[in-house]
Amino acid sequence: MILILGGTTEAMALARLIARRGEVSARLSLAGRTQEPVLPPVPARIGGFGGVEGLSRYLAETETTAVIDATHPFAARIKANAAVACAQTRTPLLALGRPAWAREPGDIWTEVTDADAAAEALGETPRRVFLTAGRLEVPAFLHHPQHHYLIRTIDPPEALPPQATLILDRGPFDSEAEIRLMQRERIDSLVTKNSGGAATYGKIIAARHLGLPVILITRPKTPDGVAFTDSIEEAYAFALRHGGYSAPGTERGV
Ligand code: NAP
Repeated sequence: MILILGGTTEAMALARLIARRGEVSARLSLAGRTQEPVLPPVPARIGGFGGVEGLSRYLAETETTAVIDATHPFAARIKANAAVACAQTRTPLLALGRPAWAREPGDIWTEVTDADAAAEALGETPRRVFLTAGRLEVPAFLHHPQHHYLIRTIDPPEALPPQATLILDRGPFDSEAEIRLMQRERIDSLVTKNSGGAATYGKIIAARHLGLPVILITRPKTPDGVAFTDSIEEAYAFALRHGGYSAPGTERGV
């Protein structure tokens, strides 16, 4: 059985491919952060494993034959845990992800390492900020109430800055719609994570088109020595090799 660590578009795309082709036994794991997650077309489990120890135990108990870490580029803890647990249990591990967005002509980016630095980088002068860095990063902006925030998240943040408009949506978002939204809301700065991928790139194109500055939170470091692909087909081939119904040590599930 292949364990896919998910919570991303890539994990879902891989799960769909596996379900469609019917050659691989796989289970997708979600952290349980989203209130109404989109469930995959393969068996799912939801919730933390209990650190490295819990994950190692889970891998052994479920006779997991390989792990595909398709977690979000900013999910640093689970990535580190997966690297250690797989090394400890000698379970093959492949990271599936998206390359970071690269600066293009016309981009006005200030790169920072976390949400606190992003909030600082907005400066003292009141701005109209489009904040799309995720629900858990909103608290960093509560201490900078001089700005008006247009906040877009999947689930509502626990608290909002005093001047805020909230949009609950999970995307994908195309650049034309992002341009219209940013114009309508008179946005003058975008704050986001460098998540990479196509589904949320529209806001970066929109900011470039409108000549707006972007405060971009850079990615945390990923564990050394883990094989990486950005190809769903390559991840599928890895899954087939290690978790195909005819691969040694795997059984067809019920
Ligand atoms: P994180 O800080 O790296 O992980 C925190 C803890 O959550 C982990 O130690 C683990 O708990 C549990 N966890 C995380 N991903 C899991 C998974 N796929 N299955 C089971 N347990 C998981 O992660 P995060 O940044 O909070 O992200 C949580 C989830 O949201 C991830 O699945 C990620 O792919 C997704 N996501 C994150 C972001 C982001 O910006 N961070 C954006 C979009 C989606 P235990 O130690 O108890 O095992």
